[in-house]
Amino acid sequence: MNDSLHLTLEEVHALAFEALAANGFSAAQARAIADTVTAAERDLCTSHGLFRIAFYVNALNNPDVDPTAVPVVSELAPAVVHVDGRFGFAPLALEMGAAPLVEKARAQGIAALCLNNIYHIAALWPELERVAEQGLAAFAFTAALPYMAPAGGTRPLYGTNPMAFAWPRKDHPPLVFDQASSVTARGEIQIHLRDGKPIPVGWAIGPDGEPTTDPETALKGAQLPFGGHKGAAIALMVELLAGALVGDLFSYEAAAKDTGTGAPLGGEFLIAIDPGRCVRDGDREKQLAHAEQLLQKIGEQEGTRLPSDRRYAARKRTPTEGIRIPRTLHQTLVAYTRES
Ligand code: NDP
Repeated sequence: MNDSLHLTLEEVHALAFEALAANGFSAAQARAIADTVTAAERDLCTSHGLFRIAFYVNALNNPDVDPTAVPVVSELAPAVVHVDGRFGFAPLALEMGAAPLVEKARAQGIAALCLNNIYHIAALWPELERVAEQGLAAFAFTAALPYMAPAGGTRPLYGTNPMAFAWPRKDHPPLVFDQASSVTARGEIQIHLRDGKPIPVGWAIGPDGEPTTDPETALKGAQLPFGGHKGAAIALMVELLAGALVGDLFSYEAAAKDTGTGAPLGGEFLIAIDPGRCVRDGDREKQLAHAEQLLQKIGEQEGTRLPSDRRYAARKRTPTEGIRIPRTLHQTLVAYTRES
């Protein structure tokens, strides 16, 4: 245990906030990012927890990034909200777009949130949980940098392009799945590299197009889509929704704007649906009860669990138990808090 260190969630938040604030992030940007990072540590999603602070700070090496950006919210259509992130980071822009998205979805039955000019290096479940906690079903899509080869190809073109879906539940937190369209998130390969561990076969190919278990070679080559051409099709859809549809960059275009920081500039697309507005009788309770029957049937089979159950189980423990992080990561973050 000597190579790791215990932190309470309050200490996680303070460390994240101070590391960002000391590096020139505005209080609003730093707080929104610290909230997201703390939520990830709370849910034991390590690759989007404190490990990510270095990505946010390194992003400042790109002169286009504005760590003090104030996002601007506007309406594109009666059911379409727009947020211009103004070249800041996604968490604050998403937070500001959530309330108008929910309001429009309730008014129209379905609504969309189009975000532009954001740097997104987080998971998608925080933005979806926020919407689904208001009783709405929701989807989110964002592209990244060209890390993944299309099906049959060997050169990176798509991002690891995550998509997520949330379903509101009665007396339970929302069901959420949030998954990269690659076999694994890039952060997992970076963590294997950091820890000196090989990656499983099938995660990536090297620059020569051959399968590799070496994380360094994998990061130089191309990640592979999950499920072959099926995951590649999801990645393609995400490029179209978070790129062409919202008038923003494809992953390969984001690469041309990146100065090697690894923080992708681009868009994000969310859809929110009011379930009660999708049935003739408007009986939302009946819909939710019907959904619970399916979820219960899943649980009746041994070996199953629902997506997000792992996170919610962690969430019950970490507020009192705290979390552990590598001591070297803590040292890096403490050094960041002393930047000026
Ligand atoms: P995982 O493969 O770990 O998990 C994907 C989803 O499947 C999760 O919702 C998870 O729920 C669920 N799940 C896992 N195992 C089971 C199981 N046995 N039964 C039922 N459900 C299960 O995630 P990825 O590696 O694909 O992605 C990790 C994160 O990286 C995502 O949050 C994604 O948004 C993020 N990402 C962000 C990018 C960006 O550019 N911003 C790019 C790519 C990825 P649970 O959480 O409960 O384990």
